[in-house]
Amino acid sequence: MQREIRSLLIIVCLGWTLSATAEGADLIERETPTGKVVGYKDTPLLPWTDNKYHVHDPDRPVPKHVVTDPASTRAEPGKAPADAIVLFDGQDLSQWEPSSWKVEKGYTEVTQGSLKTKQAFGDCQLHLEWMAPTAPAPHMMSRGNSGVLLMGRYEIQIFDSHPMHAEQIYPDGQAASIYGQTPPLVNACRKPGEWQTFDIVFTAPVFDGDKVAHPARVTMFHNGLLVHANQEIMGPMTHRRIAPYRPHAAKEPLGVQGHGSPLRFRNIWIRPLGADEK
Ligand code: MG
Repeated sequence: MQREIRSLLIIVCLGWTLSATAEGADLIERETPTGKVVGYKDTPLLPWTDNKYHVHDPDRPVPKHVVTDPASTRAEPGKAPADAIVLFDGQDLSQWEPSSWKVEKGYTEVTQGSLKTKQAFGDCQLHLEWMAPTAPAPHMMSRGNSGVLLMGRYEIQIFDSHPMHAEQIYPDGQAASIYGQTPPLVNACRKPGEWQTFDIVFTAPVFDGDKVAHPARVTMFHNGLLVHANQEIMGPMTHRRIAPYRPHAAKEPLGVQGHGSPLRFRNIWIRPLGADEK
């Protein structure tokens, strides 16, 4: 999500709660047995759902929450495999373009802007650990909001989607979703203040001239649970729209999104894959 969303007025209409936002768009709140889900119905239909759901549709089935043992996360981050490129070991951000993100006691904390690696990557295995803040967010839409930006443009969403919260973001925007496209198979989110892991296997798209010959794909585990299995990525991240693929280099820098929420990150490593990496 590119902009902070602020509710300006709330109208109760036909069982829906409409919130006009700073974007001029209408946020809808849907009541579910486990709480409210916030989203949009005035956005394009997603063709890969057989036009059943809109972009950020609150009516999309909410992935079931599965508890994972927080005690299984180490108090200290683990070590990267021997053949990995260590992107952040808790000490410094020298692998990344200059930023104002804080480095403290083995973690880095979001301040302003996003992180971007100096090195470019294509196919890869990526490990990353993150923690959502315990302090209340100014708006639920910024609650632990960040993201992994594969090739700087294909977003795996980071969000505080623990069901302890009364309001939840639309399923295609919750933690571990392919943002605006595909919710995770399950909601593996831990509570804010607890470390969480993402393990991502990413296959970069292949272009033939202006057209995408092979779309990007992702297999992914959130806190050890499978959340995407060779899932096609439909295009780059955008908000409230469907963005088509646009050709880009075979390798592009990795990003970690800053969205104004003071998340923490640690133990980030990557293993480039593919024939040219051996
Ligand atoms: Mg995000």
